[in-house]
Formats: sequence, structure tokens, C-alpha cells
Amino acid sequence: MNQVVVIGCGPAGVSSALYTKRAGLATTIIGSNKTALFKAEKIENYYGFKEPVNGVQLFKEGIEQAKRLGCNVIEDEVISIANESNFKVKTATNGEFIGAAVILATGKQRFAPNIAGLKEFEGRGVSYCAICDAFFYRNKKVAVIGNGAYAVSEAEELKAVADVTILTNGTASEEVKLSGIPYLDLEIENIYGEAKVNGVGFKNGQTLTVSGVFVAIGSASSIDFAKKLGLFVENNRIIADVKQQTNYPGIFAAGDCCATLSQVCVAVAQGAVAGLSAVEFIRNKA
Ligand SMILES: Cc1cc2nc3c(=O)[nH]c(=O)nc-3n(C[C@H](O)[C@H](O)[C@H](O)COP(=O)(O)OP(=O)(O)OC[C@H]3O[C@@H](n4cnc5c(N)ncnc54)[C@H](O)[C@@H]3O)c2cc1C
Repeated sequence: MNQVVVIGCGPAGVSSALYTKRAGLATTIIGSNKTALFKAEKIENYYGFKEPVNGVQLFKEGIEQAKRLGCNVIEDEVISIANESNFKVKTATNGEFIGAAVILATGKQRFAPNIAGLKEFEGRGVSYCAICDAFFYRNKKVAVIGNGAYAVSEAEELKAVADVTILTNGTASEEVKLSGIPYLDLEIENIYGEAKVNGVGFKNGQTLTVSGVFVAIGSASSIDFAKKLGLFVENNRIIADVKQQTNYPGIFAAGDCCATLSQVCVAVAQGAVAGLSAVEFIRNKA
């Protein structure tokens, strides 16, 4: 078993892993280069660099540092987290990782897609969490908007209770094609309804009658995980205390997914605190 599973390999995730690994805990970091650092061309306000440092370079150095200390770094996307006796972290391509503690370091929540009706029908047929809301759509027709492993995972969750179609909003990915779940690769025009969602309109004039639309675009964000696990969230940020503990025992959060100041120094500092808190949590549990 991995004692600690860190989700995200930006500054917050890697920093937390340095502390858990150096405290002797088996640590796996799962993430990709979809980090804010890839957009930060020149960083000149982070301690210790005489000249501005490039975000890509900083990211790569961090990964190498974690590997040198013996962290298991997996390039993948996490699609779900479940808690049984330990946390079960499911990835798109590398199966499951079991951890006694989980550190969420998934960066900032991405903005919702700009689809007419999406905001308007939030809570009235538009949902961001299959496991939370599938129950309300028993034996009904629903759609999942998305085109990757996360969308397939949400659709599978819904399939057990509802008649589900994946809407890829353009060319379908191999993941969707191979999923065996019905899909439409038409471009979406809008989500329409009256008091509640009645359907989805497409740019070619076709419509699909559904009672619910689940949004699962790209990979799951920290907020998606938070909603499914019942973590407290405010203004699209996970609420964590001074020890970076969330309200869910064993789940910690660090960096842009919970910080009010999105900066590398904050992500690194919160990562360190989250890592040490995870160590304390696991030692107290033993
Ligand atoms: C244009 C720009 C310029 C910036 N300039 C500066 C600057 O000059 N100085 C400064 O201090 N800060 C700067 N920042 C901010 C800085 O980059 C961030 O604060 C920092 O990267 C946050 O670190 P993080 O680890 O919390 O998140 P990120 O670095 O965003 O890392 C998030 C990680 O989570 C992973 N992830 C997300 N979802 C999943 C999933 N479902 N499964 C697995 N992994 C997942 C991603 O792959 C990634 O590895 C800048 C940001 C931007 C966008």
C-alpha cells in the first residue's frame, strides 16, 4: 500500500511528497504537466533564484527532486477517490492506488465551459457530480458533457440507474468510443428547459431530450473531488485549516486548490504543512 497518495505534481504536490517521503512513508504522486507553472514563463519572486526561473524548468526540477528522494511519480489523471478502510484513488490508465492519507494538490478549478443555459440550470438539471446526484435521475434520460476518462467514469456511475448519452461536443475520443456507452459527437448549441432542464440543442439543429446534464469536461478538478467526498468548499476553494486538513479525516489540501494567494511560495509552504500533517495523521492511526 502507498501510505500517502498525492494528487497533483505541481509545487504543492511535490513539496508535500518531499516531506512524507523523507519521513519514511511510501509516497505516490499522480499528475501531469497540466500545471499553472507551464503558463508562468518567468518567475522572479520565488526565493533562491538570482535570475528569473522559467515555470517549466521549475516543474521539471521538482519532479526530478521527488524521484531522487524515492517518490513514485505517475503521469496520469485521477478520476475518482473512494474511502473504504483506506482511500482508493482510481486513475485513467494506471489502475488504483491505495493510501492511508490523500493530499489534494490539483491546482485551480478550471472555469466551466461557455455553453448557453449551463449556468442558468445549475441545480435545476445541470450537475457536476454523478455520485452525488445520480439518484435523482433514476430511469430517466441524462447526458454527460465531456470527452475523456473522467466523462466516461461519470457516465459509468450514471449508467447503473439512468439512460445515459455522452456528448463529446465534437470529435469523440478513443476513450469514449471504446467505453461502450452511447455518445453523440455533435457540437452543442445550448441546454434548454423551463423550470428544469428539458434537453440539449446542437448546432446542426438536432435536439436530445434529457432531464439531467452532468458536466465532466477535462479531468476532475479539486472541486469535483471535494463535492463527491463532502469537503467544505467556499468560492471554488477547498477549505483547509492551518494544518492543511480538510473536514474529511485523512484528506489534506494544498496550493492553488485551497489558497487565497496563488503563488509558488504559498503552494510550496502549504505542501510542506500538508505533508507533515499527513505524517502525523498516519502515525496517530497506527
Ligand atoms: C500565467 C501565470 C503566471 C504565474 N506567475 C507566477 C509568478 O511569477 N510567481 C509565482 O509565485 N506564481 C506564479 N503563478 C502561479 C503559480 O504557477 C501557481 O500558484 C502554482 O503553480 C500553484 O501550484 P499548485 O501545485 O497548487 O498547482 P499547479 O501547479 O497548477 O499543479 C496542479 C497539478 O495538479 C494536477 N492535476 C489536476 N487535476 C488532476 C487530476 N484529476 N488527476 C491528477 N492530477 C491532476 C496537474 O496535472 C498538476 O500537476 C503564475 C500562474 C500563471 C497561470
